[in-house]
Amino acid sequence: MDSARCTVNNTDYTGVGFAALPEAERADYRRHLVCVMCGTKAYFRKEASSGQGPCFGARPHANCVLATVESARGMGGNNEENALHNPGTRIVLDEAQGAAEIVNGDPGEPGGAGAGGRRFTGDGGRPNAVSRKRLGPLLKTLIYEPAFRTSTVYVEIPGRDTRPARDLFVNFSDVSQCQPHTLYGFWGVIYDTGYGNDGTLWVNTGEWEDVSVAIDPTDVAPFLTRHKTTVANLDGAHILVFGTTFKAGSGKQIIKPSSVQLTALNED
Ligand SMILES: [Zn+2]
Repeated sequence: MDSARCTVNNTDYTGVGFAALPEAERADYRRHLVCVMCGTKAYFRKEASSGQGPCFGARPHANCVLATVESARGMGGNNEENALHNPGTRIVLDEAQGAAEIVNGDPGEPGGAGAGGRRFTGDGGRPNAVSRKRLGPLLKTLIYEPAFRTSTVYVEIPGRDTRPARDLFVNFSDVSQCQPHTLYGFWGVIYDTGYGNDGTLWVNTGEWEDVSVAIDPTDVAPFLTRHKTTVANLDGAHILVFGTTFKAGSGKQIIKPSSVQLTALNED
């Protein structure tokens, strides 16, 4: 979205205008943004390294004319990667980053699934077709294919668990319904970040008073290296974290990633 409304001062901002605000004001206002059309809670996205200028997003964001434009852009305008076209398929997570053995491809890469269509490994044919998928493309599927979130497509995390997508993936807004100390794929928008006194990187979600991801001090550098990013670039990005939750003394839900390898970022 090119513009959003701040409910603190009831003012509409363009992405460029919002980016130009003094930092303290921006940090406050960004937690009070809504879609100018439908009032859905929105978030601010600073200028991307890809060259896309500062803008706004809002998800989930159904039945809004501004949301349609956004989805078409995010998926590259095609639906080749729709996991639900092959309901017999089991998705196996590939933890490697940039591995050569990718079968299913990355919709963002030339020659990926977007260009060549879906292929399968394993013993071939349905209903046992296996689709290997890296975490980045999986996060994109979660963002842009709402039906996948509630589907019964089985997702395998090698050596850990295999569960239907609807039981495995949890948006940050639904964390309170999770079993503690159980592995889930938590995902959603990063609203902002901050460092704790001990060096923990706190990745705050839209439910910032209730849900945050805690990245251990020793994992912060590997996390940023893996995703080729900086802390400043995390604001407004989507994140997927396989991990468990526990409740802090304050009542806040803390998500602990199982490993840096089981995280994905989408900065589109
Ligand atoms: Zn809207």
